[in-house]
Amino acid sequence: MTHPSNAAQAWPYPRRWWLAGLLLLALLTGLLGVLVFLAREYEAAREQDDLSRDVEAIANDMRSELTRNTQTVQLLNSADPNSALWQQRAERLLQSHRALVRLEWRDPDMALLASSNTPFLGALFQTLPRDQALPDIRRACDAASRISGPSYSSNYFWPTAGGRGLALMEMCLPIAQSGTPKGFLVATYSLAGMMAEWANTSLLRGRGLAFTEADGTRLSLHATVPGGRELMLAGALLDLPGHTLQLQLQSPRRPLGLFPNVLTAVVGALSLSLLVVLAFLAHDMRRRWRAERELAEALAFRKAMENSLVTGLRARDMQGRLTYVNPAFCDMVGLPPEQLLGSGLPAPYWPDELLDVYQQRQAVRLAGQALPREGFESMFQRSDGTRFPVLIIEAPLIDAHGTQTGWMSAVLDLSEQRRVEELNRAQQDRLQATARLAMMGEMASLLSHELNQPLAAIASYANGSLNLLADPQRGDDGLPSAMRQIVAQADRAARVIKSVSDFVRRREQVREAVNAADLLESIQPLLALQASKLGIRVLINVQAGVPPVVCDRTMVEQVLLNLARNGMQAMPHGDPPARSGWRVLSLSVQAVTPEASAARRWVEFAVTDHGQGLSEAAKTQLFIPFFTTKADGMGLGLSLCRTVIEQHAGELTHAPVLPRGTVFRFRLPAAPAL
Ligand code: ADP
Repeated sequence: MTHPSNAAQAWPYPRRWWLAGLLLLALLTGLLGVLVFLAREYEAAREQDDLSRDVEAIANDMRSELTRNTQTVQLLNSADPNSALWQQRAERLLQSHRALVRLEWRDPDMALLASSNTPFLGALFQTLPRDQALPDIRRACDAASRISGPSYSSNYFWPTAGGRGLALMEMCLPIAQSGTPKGFLVATYSLAGMMAEWANTSLLRGRGLAFTEADGTRLSLHATVPGGRELMLAGALLDLPGHTLQLQLQSPRRPLGLFPNVLTAVVGALSLSLLVVLAFLAHDMRRRWRAERELAEALAFRKAMENSLVTGLRARDMQGRLTYVNPAFCDMVGLPPEQLLGSGLPAPYWPDELLDVYQQRQAVRLAGQALPREGFESMFQRSDGTRFPVLIIEAPLIDAHGTQTGWMSAVLDLSEQRRVEELNRAQQDRLQATARLAMMGEMASLLSHELNQPLAAIASYANGSLNLLADPQRGDDGLPSAMRQIVAQADRAARVIKSVSDFVRRREQVREAVNAADLLESIQPLLALQASKLGIRVLINVQAGVPPVVCDRTMVEQVLLNLARNGMQAMPHGDPPARSGWRVLSLSVQAVTPEASAARRWVEFAVTDHGQGLSEAAKTQLFIPFFTTKADGMGLGLSLCRTVIEQHAGELTHAPVLPRGTVFRFRLPAAPAL
């Protein structure tokens, strides 16, 4: 089945599908990108939050440590500043707190009463005299007196040996005894020491911690982040009475891959699987679409085929209701499809007089009886009331589940066929009548043709006899013989009439086994009569041991006579000349050597003359009845000969004879050997 290929191009679906697919892909890719970006942002924000929380925790720790330190330092005022005990306590305190680098007791005028330095930093206060820090100490202590509590100085840089230095900060704690100020306890903090001592190391892993100025300048560094990585920063304020420090925590930004976390990975995987599913869906849709298109084309093809059919098609359900009719069926019964479809029994095209028969037939069909495969004939009625014969070929309608849902029938209108058959019959009758007439004519012609010879012979013998009777001198010796010949020829004429009439009536001829020599002998007198008139010598040559032939004797004699007469007529006086020695007609009979496989034996007869031979026109029309080149000829001889020979299962052939003449040959079946 071929379908028009341009239908595929006219269908807009595939291009639209590809566009939708591409859009969807772009959308999904975009979605995935946004998702990755958001996830990264979320990750970064979370990291930033962690960092801020951690730096806040460190600042809190420091604040509480500083408060606790303040309390510890306060305990120093219980000992006399000049006593060894104070010194001892101060040293212990410095030893246990690395954040503290110096402890002093100053009187209300800031004069130093006692002091102790940290053992860890060596000669910290030798590069510069301690007095250099006095303004800071004083500011802190003034503030402390005002608030009657600890107060901190702002941090400052204190150079040490080797061009290095430390960021330091003073804490001043006013001491009073029974309401009178006794001076100040001054604790000097190293910012680096504070970080080293109090920063929670677990929070610092891989991170950098520093005290910075408000503008970000680093004051003191505790730890740094190794080399050139993108950093995240979080700061916390360490607000102390009198001074606020800024703490900064640094963390390297964590490297984020394409799928930085499980969420992105999961969403990515889901998107991918969605894409795969969509691809499968699209593939499926394409296949479905193609199938639908093929189905539509097949349907259109089927529709066109049904519409072009001259055979009526009808489908009926199990209740006998019409479910489908094609245009040819509607034309046939002369009803529109609307009137036919859905109509039950009796069908609108059933002739009234046959309703009962059809109802019965329908009942048989509904009972599940097998229908004849070759169909059955029926009679339908057109809407105008005319009846017409139809041939119905019916087959059960089987649905996809294998259950029968009804019947499908092809209905052929037989009216035309019947008309042609009727016409043929009439023609046949006419032909037969004509044939009978023709046969009568043929018989008459044949009779006159075949009777010519015996009648001529009788006339000739009768003339001879009359001559004998008229001449008493010659005596009547020859009379009995002439009379016998007359009787014999009259007999022959009678037989000819009988066998010709038999032949014309196509009756089964009487077949008998006859010797070839007998056949030739019985036609000899007639041959001799004609030959002597034309001065022709007749040579008869019968092969020794030729088997008898099975034939209708009289008819075969007629054939031989006809062929011999034609041969002699082909040699009129002077052609060939008398002295040429060719005025000879030979009749020969020989057995045909049977082939090994051939079951039958044959005997071949040949009649050879030396006349002019057959003209080209004669060769083609020889056997056509009434073809003749002779003025008195009837043109029936050869056609009769061929018919007779063919009725004997033989074949009549002719061939030229060199140097001149023609030979006619035919074969007859040999009688079976006894
Ligand atoms: P008729 O003898 O009455 O003409 P035939 O059917 O016997 O009819 O012969 C038809 C024609 O065939 C003859 O008129 C003749 O022209 C040709 N014909 C038949 N036999 C011979 C023959 N032996 N030699 C030449 N022509 C022949």
